[in-house]
Amino acid sequence: MGACNFLSPQLILSIQEILQLCEASCCTALLCRSVAIIKSNKDTRYGLDSIVTHDGAKLPCLALPDLSSFRQKFGLDAYDQLDVIGIDEAQFFEDLYDFCREAADHDGKRVIVAGLDGNYLRRSFGSVLDIIPLADSVTKLTARCELCGKRAIFTLRKTEETQTELIGGADVYMPVCRQHYVSRLVVKEAAKTVLESQDVQCVSYA
Ligand SMILES: [Zn+2]
Repeated sequence: MGACNFLSPQLILSIQEILQLCEASCCTALLCRSVAIIKSNKDTRYGLDSIVTHDGAKLPCLALPDLSSFRQKFGLDAYDQLDVIGIDEAQFFEDLYDFCREAADHDGKRVIVAGLDGNYLRRSFGSVLDIIPLADSVTKLTARCELCGKRAIFTLRKTEETQTELIGGADVYMPVCRQHYVSRLVVKEAAKTVLESQDVQCVSYA
């Protein structure tokens, strides 16, 4: 019973990575137990309904719009048999807090949650930070900065879109260190200011 949380500044953790994390940290007997993985149906990049571990075990993987529908979709009896529930892309689930509390406290499940703690603006993303008080343990993961190879703790959006939820891979996001996150923002801001001042000049000369 219990829950643990993996926060990542990287792009979205892959399901295989979640399994590795589970095995490496808190669920040493993972593959002997009954496990299901839930991911958001907002991310359609991987159309999986099951995943195969390196040991050849096949685990069910459900792509859902919310977590509250999981029990029904998975089957009530099958749910009762589950030991471990892995949640991928946790930032996309609005009902994350209630689901984790219910599953861990009342249903006796081990809940492994992987998600982004912050968005590309370094603001809290979804409900991921809200469930930290529920968790037995929290691990903050890092990637490598794409520009210098140092520890990357932030995600930089390469494109100009400003909506919070923009699903994409390396074409849209890149992991960066603090120095490169800040310097990139400075460059972006400076470019914007120049463009805006040029607009003003054009208007005044017209
Ligand atoms: Zn860097």
